[in-house]
Amino acid sequence: AAFESLTNRLQNVFGKLRGKGKVTEDDINEAMREVRLALLEADVNFKVVKDFIAKVKEKALGLEVSKSFTPGMVIIDIVNKEMTELMGGTQSKLAKANKPPTVLMMVGLQGAGKTTTTGKLARLLQKGNHKPLLIAGDIYRPAAIKQLQVLGEQIDAPVFTLGDQTSPVEIARAGLQHAKDNGNDYVIIDTAGRLHIDEALMEELKQIHQVTKPDEVLLVVDAMTGQDAVNVAQSFHEQLELTGVVLTKLDGDTRGGAALSVKAVTGKPIKFAAMGEKIDALEPFHPDRMASRILGMGDMLSLIEKAQANIDADKAAEMERKMRNAEFTFDDFLEQMAQVRNLGPIDQLMDMLPGMNKMKGMKDMKVDEKQIDRVEAIVRSMTKEEKQKPEILNHSRRRRVAAGSGTSVAEVNRLIKQFDDMRKMMKQFSSMMGKGSKGMKGL
Ligand code: GDP
Repeated sequence: AAFESLTNRLQNVFGKLRGKGKVTEDDINEAMREVRLALLEADVNFKVVKDFIAKVKEKALGLEVSKSFTPGMVIIDIVNKEMTELMGGTQSKLAKANKPPTVLMMVGLQGAGKTTTTGKLARLLQKGNHKPLLIAGDIYRPAAIKQLQVLGEQIDAPVFTLGDQTSPVEIARAGLQHAKDNGNDYVIIDTAGRLHIDEALMEELKQIHQVTKPDEVLLVVDAMTGQDAVNVAQSFHEQLELTGVVLTKLDGDTRGGAALSVKAVTGKPIKFAAMGEKIDALEPFHPDRMASRILGMGDMLSLIEKAQANIDADKAAEMERKMRNAEFTFDDFLEQMAQVRNLGPIDQLMDMLPGMNKMKGMKDMKVDEKQIDRVEAIVRSMTKEEKQKPEILNHSRRRRVAAGSGTSVAEVNRLIKQFDDMRKMMKQFSSMMGKGSKGMKGL
């Protein structure tokens, strides 16, 4: 999964700190050394790492973390905040033209996911009640026009094309006019990509830019390429004024380098993140949530939003409250499981839950949906009281649950352990967000 090794390494570092009642300056230095190595290994830009560590260290020493009762948590909190800043601080929204249509120009290397992202972005805009027009401006890659048409059909969005014999500049101009004539409030221009940046391509992109005066020039980069993605972003930015970045393939096992470096190196924020090949797999990028996720604190807010879009709003709100207050029971767990199964690929959702990536058994569920059936069977074999108060599950109760669910005591033990871990993570999470705070950041 994305960021897995970075997350594991960071959690190890914090775990060690958490284990100590008091931390000394040496402990902090040692921890920062390890964080530094973890970031470098995740392919984060060298200079970015250096600045980042310097900032965290300064804050940690300044706050006299050593005097805190929970030094580990204080340091995680500092790292969390700095990491959020590193990725832009707050969500960077799409620009909007004073007079529609708003023009979005998509650029990037071949294979980065430009055409796919064009379709996904249109889908996202449609969900916000907009009427996007897609313009097929990639006349070089043989199947690109067709690919865009297929995507357009899939979401019932119009695709403007003049075939592959007209220049992309002319296509863009005519497409924009078409949007004005037809009341489309957004146009998304898919442009050609090459394997490498070359002058002819840049010249063409500049001309399209001149003709359409885009409100956004979004660079699509493949997160899997790590620092290369950042270098590409920088080169593009030197030629064309980018306004933002779309990071794709975050569903793969990207190490984190691109996500963490792009803003710092280019000064341009990541606006969207793509996490799959399906048309719905694009989300607005939230630096704070991404930081939590990289730190293994889960991405509950995205999960909750996803849930709210798909699930009964009252139930979702209740779940959110419980998560905040760490009043989570096995009943909720089961409920969540059922809802989660309706939401999409289990492994992605699991990644969003705090602590899940740390749990071996949970990981197994990613590959095997049948495993979830077993988990459900175990929970269903518990009594009402046991579900609410798992701590009463002593050995004989566990044996009964195992027999009732057709599983083994070892499996039951494992599930209860996982559940406990999860509750602990939630507690930490909510205490980090501040006791009694009205809401989490971003809500
Ligand atoms: P383009 O050359 O930049 O237009 O790239 P495409 O849009 O054709 O995408 C290249 C390949 O990457 C296709 O097979 C896409 O399905 C795939 N792809 C794009 N975005 C994602 C993503 O977020 N996750 C995954 N797993 N695959 C993606």
